Amino acid sequence: MEADSKPKKSGARLCCVCNQNRAALKRPKTLEQICRECFYAVFEEEIHQVILENQLFKPGDRIAIGASGGKDSTVLAYVLSELNRRHNYGLDLFLLSVDEGITGYRDDSLETVKRNELQYGLPLKIVSYKDLYGWTMDEIVKMIGLKNNCTFCGVFRRQALDRGAALLKVDKVATGHNADDIAETVLLNILRGDIARLSRCTSIITGEDGPIPRCKPFKYTYEKEIVMYAYFKKLDYFSTECIYSPNAYRGFAREFIKDLERIRPRAILDIIKSEMVQSLCLAGGAESRFTKAWHWSYSRPKQ
Ligand code: SF4
Repeated sequence: MEADSKPKKSGARLCCVCNQNRAALKRPKTLEQICRECFYAVFEEEIHQVILENQLFKPGDRIAIGASGGKDSTVLAYVLSELNRRHNYGLDLFLLSVDEGITGYRDDSLETVKRNELQYGLPLKIVSYKDLYGWTMDEIVKMIGLKNNCTFCGVFRRQALDRGAALLKVDKVATGHNADDIAETVLLNILRGDIARLSRCTSIITGEDGPIPRCKPFKYTYEKEIVMYAYFKKLDYFSTECIYSPNAYRGFAREFIKDLERIRPRAILDIIKSEMVQSLCLAGGAESRFTKAWHWSYSRPKQ
């Protein structure tokens, strides 16, 4: 038999969206076999729908993208630029970075953001702890050690982002928090019994009562898909962890979420959704109808 007349092996699956190209990957969110082009399309379209349904932006808005040089903010800058062009959002986009002053980490990641500035043609503003507060994180850690460093850093960063956003005169800051980050935060707030934070942490827009609201266009976007998108698109991002990250407790929550995701990919979305339902119910009274219904359905005898 001639080589090219041999029957083709049936191993190569077709993309379940276009039914034409060979599937190149299994979507982590849905486990569908899909080709690269369809993956880009569904990934971008889902984010576009989240933006529309939640009215994250309006025409003429000036939007700062919180840019750390990591995968999430790099993909966010790329996708928002694309969607802004494709769907005529009419946004003025900027990159806004905070320099905490962490040698060997932030100095390197800021080099990535500077390259992104040129690659995506988005103006970049960098605000530094040194300029704003007179201290770098390196100096703070030298003084206080590694115990509460992230608490200081978190407070400083929130203020620094607000200051940078005010300097850019933007209407909103978009951050790269993804679905995994939000599910982790839900879990951490449950483990800490922090009901106040629990009811806020899944909001897609926060800080509306503060100087400049923040929004999370990746609220329903899986981290694994962000990594795949960045990898296939060959985006330029920085992937080292902060050298001062203790991460023990959050690391535990992260591992737990990854285990759940392995068993059932929808688990991430369900954690976010269940928290949103509970928040709505908490807003409605001390013992919510949701809680009562839950007790009722689990305490009644099985038929
Ligand atoms: Fe700051 Fe802690 Fe994050 Fe490092 S890990 S950037 S010290 S909050």
